[in-house]
Amino acid sequence: SCLARVQAVDTQVKAFNSRDEAAALAAARESDARRAAGQARGPLDGIPVGFKDVIAVEGQPLTCSSKMLANYVSPYDATVTTRLKAAGAIPLGRLNMDEFAMGSSTENSAFGPTANPWDLTRVPGGSSGGSAAAVAAGELPLTLGSDTGGSIRQPAALCGIVGLKPTYGLVSRFGLAAYASSLDQIGPLSRTVDDAAVLLQAIAGHDERDSTSFKADVPDYRAEMAKRSGPWRIGVPKEFFGAGLDPEVGAAVQSAIGHYRKAGCEIREVSLPLAAEQAIAVYYLIATAEASSNLARYDGIRYGHRAAKAKDVVDLYFQSRAEGFGDEVKRRIILGTHVLSSGYYDAYYLRAQKVRTLIRNEFAAVLKDCDALLSPTSPTPAFRIGEKSSDPLAMYLTDIYTISVNLAGLPGISVPCGFTAGGLPIGLQLIGRPFDESGLLAIARHYE
Ligand code: GLN
Repeated sequence: SCLARVQAVDTQVKAFNSRDEAAALAAARESDARRAAGQARGPLDGIPVGFKDVIAVEGQPLTCSSKMLANYVSPYDATVTTRLKAAGAIPLGRLNMDEFAMGSSTENSAFGPTANPWDLTRVPGGSSGGSAAAVAAGELPLTLGSDTGGSIRQPAALCGIVGLKPTYGLVSRFGLAAYASSLDQIGPLSRTVDDAAVLLQAIAGHDERDSTSFKADVPDYRAEMAKRSGPWRIGVPKEFFGAGLDPEVGAAVQSAIGHYRKAGCEIREVSLPLAAEQAIAVYYLIATAEASSNLARYDGIRYGHRAAKAKDVVDLYFQSRAEGFGDEVKRRIILGTHVLSSGYYDAYYLRAQKVRTLIRNEFAAVLKDCDALLSPTSPTPAFRIGEKSSDPLAMYLTDIYTISVNLAGLPGISVPCGFTAGGLPIGLQLIGRPFDESGLLAIARHYE
């Protein structure tokens, strides 16, 4: 039925970069046989899952929506893929994204934009726009995205679905093509909070192949959620409701705050001045620095696109990278190499790292007295395709409420919280304590 839905709508939505339908159908038949024999491998057995085109599935394309990797096929599975296959889930296709996860609208894809299923003239958000649109359009029940500064939560908000960025270190990054390694996390996109919990359960937990993976037992999220019944203390950062917030988004989030208050929760105003004012600048120094280093591997020799007529090896690097990368990726590599270069390192990169620590401390201080923080996910609902694509700074500002959560390494979730008068979905962001996904999911589900 997913494939039928894909046939019916994906020529318009364009969520997919590719899919191997024969392999998916074969896996579905195996799952049917297992379940008929009473040997289901758990709640995900036979469930199709879509992958953002940045997560490795053996034998399938891994393009990062870049010309650089347009013909690259992954020789191995990411750890999340291995775990999902073991749980019986069926990898059903590769989903469009901003090139190398750099962007907020899925317009920076070498393969063209994805449309928002609620209004095909609008963006689905990004960078995991294909992952969000596929769920919103009913093409897939569950997808994986990656979130470096908001790329799961923001598209979830703009498409009216649930998107969870786990605590940094909870989900292995082995087999995730790296953008900014100290910020990247893989996480679930789904229709409901329960579904997100089921998908998280399957992918979370220690992995010796990722040295930043946290060594701790993964709780039974749904059992823990049931125990965490509230009422909760919820912090509302006052700076996240200032200039730039669309009034309809602000009103929907206020009504969600009213819902929690009525349920007996204690609502506290809190202040996160550095997170609000410095996070975008700090992020674009750290993320671009890490990206410039991570993307050095695409040299035309080891991976991906190779220029046809180079004079010598240096020329081969130049031409392959000039041809293979899109404009936004080049902008970030240039910025990143600049902030890491001698003379600028101390002035930019090191200072950004220091402010990052201050932002982390700021969150830790307010989360001492709050079970979660509540804010809008995105300052605006879905914008029109083309509206911000020539203005990188306007695009960067769409992540103003999500980006500091990655700098602090915290878990964050976006859940639907209403619609604009024009029928566009609005998302609510909840931010939790480190590794308290159970509490965060429980609070999110209460609103759903
Ligand atoms: N929009 C932000 C960026 O362009 C965040 C992207 C992401 O989370 N991958 O870097």
